[in-house]
Amino acid sequence: MGSLILTPKGLAWFRKGHPWIYRTDLEKIKDAAPGSIVSLETKNGIFLAQGFYSDHSKIAFRIISRSRDAINAQFWEKRVLGAFRYRQEVVQQTNAYRLIYGESDGIPSLVVDRYADHFVLQTLAQGTENLLPVFTEVILKVFQPASLILRNDVMVRDLEGLPREKRILFGECPKDVQVFEGEIHYRADLWTGQKTGAYLDQRENRLLGARFLRGTILDAFCYQGLFGLHGARRASRVIGIDSSQEAVDQGKANATLNGLSNAEFFRENVFDFLKGAVEEKRHFDGIILDPPPFAKSKENVAGATRGYKELNLRAMRLLNPGGVLVTSSCSYNLSESKFLEVLRDCAKDSGSAFRIIERRGQSADHPVLLSFPESFYLKCLFLQKIE
Ligand code: SAH
Repeated sequence: MGSLILTPKGLAWFRKGHPWIYRTDLEKIKDAAPGSIVSLETKNGIFLAQGFYSDHSKIAFRIISRSRDAINAQFWEKRVLGAFRYRQEVVQQTNAYRLIYGESDGIPSLVVDRYADHFVLQTLAQGTENLLPVFTEVILKVFQPASLILRNDVMVRDLEGLPREKRILFGECPKDVQVFEGEIHYRADLWTGQKTGAYLDQRENRLLGARFLRGTILDAFCYQGLFGLHGARRASRVIGIDSSQEAVDQGKANATLNGLSNAEFFRENVFDFLKGAVEEKRHFDGIILDPPPFAKSKENVAGATRGYKELNLRAMRLLNPGGVLVTSSCSYNLSESKFLEVLRDCAKDSGSAFRIIERRGQSADHPVLLSFPESFYLKCLFLQKIE
């Protein structure tokens, strides 16, 4: 087994409990093959942990275990079962959820999403890439899935020097899979859809959001329409907006699937739509804002903040008194406190007061690891315009 020797600064960082070690915190790298499991040691040769080594990324080490126990198929099966047990406790009202969320489940850089009996895998670093046959076997054994799809067509793989690719690992990939979320049924396209087919991280916010949505609702950045469709069961009219034609088509199909004739979907840029709506003095009783991550790196935060500001200010102006804004940011680089600051600024400029009725994050199947701030990325606030 190869080993990595920490610098004193690296050791201090490791002791704080963060699951990653950066290359700049390594003093020496001994016989470590790319993607292999290595031991992490102090300068004096004291063993600290076992983890995945990457020879490409700035993140050189991802912790798997602080013990010396053998890391084999049995070990991984135990971790997968642990992750599954937790989901059985926290996941409700759906058969589509994240089964494994990387570091948070002790399997760094592995993502597994489950859509009924169909499973989608992502191996996002060299370590899990090497072990793909093992994870495939464990999932086949534990869950007997109908199909297993590899969705490695993601940008983060570039940082690991890994190709972007998609593959069927087992079974046949259906055109789309029908799943449910509360009272809503929807179809997820696991092969070409965004993410692994759906934004599972917003599930609990969508389910709760429905409670507060009445009257005329705007679902901005709607993707397959789920926020809006939950709302449509009680609201009088729902308008879903997305820039992707596939998204709009899926939204319409999902509305039909649920027999909801009061939900309409349009392909448009949300920034243009909101600008036009303010000019035309339109009003809504509920608005959902769920944009893609504007701040993909620390350098983008200023530009991203301007984007969030424009969207939220316009949405606040468009709301009727008593109306509710469900607003999200999935940019890890924009902290919750910064996001709140942006919203406060928007409220001031809109000339209205808002109360926070819910302050939320990602669904519980995307658990946040306390010592791993990077695992908390989704912020979602429910704000009510006070009359
Ligand atoms: N609310 C959705 C997830 C939205 S993800 C859900 O709960 O499932 C963000 C969506 O914004 C994507 O569908 C993407 O196609 C769309 N999008 C990105 N930029 C956009 C823009 N400027 N205008 C409209 N839609 C945009």
